[in-house]
Amino acid sequence: MTQYDFDLFVIGAGSGGVRASRMAAALGARVGVAEDLYLGGTCVNVGCVPKKLFAYAAHFAEDFEDAAGYGWDLQQAGFTWSRLLENKNIEITRLNGIYRNLLVSAGVTLVDGRARFVDSHTVIVGDTTYSAERILIATGGWPHIPEFPGNEHVISSNDVFFLKELPRRTVVVGGGYIAVEFASIFHGLGCETSLLYRGDLFLRGFDKDVREHMAHTFEAKGLDVRFNADVAQIDRQDDGSLKVALKNGETLETDLVLYATGRRPNLAGLGLENTQVKLDDNGFVAVDELYQTSDPAVFAIGDVTDTVQLTPVALAEGMALARRLYKPDEYIPVDYDNIATAVFCIPNIATLGMTEEQARAGGHRLKIYESRFRAMRNTLAGRGEQSFMKLIVDKDSDRILGIHMIGPEAGEILQGLAVAVKAGATKAVFDATLGIHPTAAEEFVTMRTPTRED
Ligand code: FAD
Ligand code: NDP
Repeated sequence: MTQYDFDLFVIGAGSGGVRASRMAAALGARVGVAEDLYLGGTCVNVGCVPKKLFAYAAHFAEDFEDAAGYGWDLQQAGFTWSRLLENKNIEITRLNGIYRNLLVSAGVTLVDGRARFVDSHTVIVGDTTYSAERILIATGGWPHIPEFPGNEHVISSNDVFFLKELPRRTVVVGGGYIAVEFASIFHGLGCETSLLYRGDLFLRGFDKDVREHMAHTFEAKGLDVRFNADVAQIDRQDDGSLKVALKNGETLETDLVLYATGRRPNLAGLGLENTQVKLDDNGFVAVDELYQTSDPAVFAIGDVTDTVQLTPVALAEGMALARRLYKPDEYIPVDYDNIATAVFCIPNIATLGMTEEQARAGGHRLKIYESRFRAMRNTLAGRGEQSFMKLIVDKDSDRILGIHMIGPEAGEILQGLAVAVKAGATKAVFDATLGIHPTAAEEFVTMRTPTRED
């Protein structure tokens, strides 16, 4: 009998924590996991899943419009927010149950409540203490809302999934994934929507052509996108509406302001001062490449560390850590190169590998292939919207360095291409691949003439 209650105690049953717990238990470890709020964490409850369901809901607006060109006569379509919310909640509850079953059937002990370190080998949840040979911090992130006069009037992405009513007018502040996705969702659901970004062009870090194409696409849809728009103050008016004053002197009236200005590691009340765990300069839990913190008994994975904040990354880290600890022979480090990702706005943005700017900064000589075209579905629909595709090719090795797309189902399309790029595909391999006709995706294997070449 060992001196500890568990071999591994995991704090947080989100994407990373659940995967690490299940894998470690499957490899024979005695595992406990504490969860404070909701099984499945951010992704399942206030992230990827409900967001994608909302994005599907928002998409119907254009589908109904487009149907007319295909001969369908539709009555004025009506939308009931409360029904969407209720159905979404039912689905999330179903998923919470699945997560519970997965953990329990893997032999993991589930502890409901917020865990706090007592020392490097002990946590307390409620009145009960649990000891473990190793403790894993997988507590994720939490929305960050900056300090400014009136910030008590704004909501975060944690609240947006539970709004009692859909407002008539919305303002979304930020220029990252969440801001762009929710501006699109609100607009699709019929809200008069403004997106305010403090810089010159949103989606910093994405390929510049993608950022510009998306800005034009949003504007053409009638979404009010404002750059260099920084909020100075927000006031609640007598009629309940909100007055948003910008630093450039402009004002907007709205019914709801969503702040999507990044997330910070969720460390509140965790008791790290009772361990030797150190934070990095940005306030994330500092870990080495094996997810080891500066405390020999404590590990950390996922959004609480300075990693790429995506569910598949947290899952991969959870899996890698469990293997490293309990089946080191099968340990495979996470490969952080060429992580494909999508922004689920309408239409999707999907991206993989380097942007043109990154490739140039890396000293590559490039061939750039681009295509802008109206997807076939948009023809009879009378929709002018153009898709955008871009291939970034290393001129010397012919290797594909980056792939970027804006268009319907771009996320689905790039997932397949990500496998090819992982396998080291060259442009010649793309050229030798026959397309599936007629699809939008075939464009990726039929682009023959570079738009520009070093
Ligand atoms: P989390 O999933 O956040 O899990 C942490 C868990 O720890 C939580 O359940 C929390 O309640 C619990 N916890 C915290 N402190 C304690 C404590 N002291 N005791 C007990 N429990 C505790 N990623 C994608 O890949 N695709 C997407 O489409 C996508 N959409 C997103 C949309 C939104 C609106 C947001 C906010 C995020 C989205 N993400 C998406 C990011 C993704 O959700 C995160 O990267 C992922 O959830 C990180 O997993 P994690 O395990 O690190 O943390
Ligand atoms: P991001 O870090 O992606 O974007 C934050 C945005 O807020 C940036 O545009 C930033 O501007 C801006 N900002 C930061 N501080 C301020 C401020 N004080 N005032 C005004 N604007 C500010 O964060 P998100 O909250 O959008 O999302 C968090 C993470 O979750 C994402 O990075 C992503 O990894 C993940 N996620 C993934 C999704 C997906 O896979 N589809 C969907 C949603 C989230 P600037 O660029 O100038 O710094």
